[in-house]
Amino acid sequence: MNKSGLKLVYWFHGHSCPMSTLGYRAGVVAKKLLKVKRKDYYKVSVKVFFKSCAVDGIQISFPATYANGNLTLQDEKRFAFEFLDNEKKRGVSITFNKPLLDFMERYAHIKKTEKDEKKIIGFFKKFIKYTQSAKLNDIFIIKEI
Ligand SMILES: [Zn+2]
Repeated sequence: MNKSGLKLVYWFHGHSCPMSTLGYRAGVVAKKLLKVKRKDYYKVSVKVFFKSCAVDGIQISFPATYANGNLTLQDEKRFAFEFLDNEKKRGVSITFNKPLLDFMERYAHIKKTEKDEKKIIGFFKKFIKYTQSAKLNDIFIIKEI
C-alpha cells in the first residue's frame, strides 16, 4: 500500500474518506493490470458509475482526469468503475465486493440510528482504515474486459 500516494489523495481531495481511498486503490490496480503510465493518459479512459469522492482518488492513481477529458461520470448509482486502454481495446472492470458492501451498510445504519456523534465519527475512522488496509479481494471484484 502506497502511503505517500494516499497522502496526496487526501491533500488533493481536502479530507480523508473511504471513497477517495477506494477510488485511489481501484486506480492503482487498474494501472498495474493495464500496464500504463501517467504519460499514457491520451490512450486510456475511465468510466465511473456513481458520483462520489472516489473520482478524486482515481485522478491521482490512474492517468485519467476530468480536464484531459478521459474521465467520465455516469451517475447510475452502481458501485462500478471501468478502466480502459483504448489502444489495446482492453480494460478492467472493478465493482465492490460483499465484505465492503457490508461495511458500507453498517456505516449507513450507524449514521441513521446512532445519536452519539463521537460513535459515528469513530466508526467513520474505522471505515477509512478498513478501505486502506483490506485485502483487494475483500473490497473489489476485478475483471478483465
Ligand atoms: Zn471525500
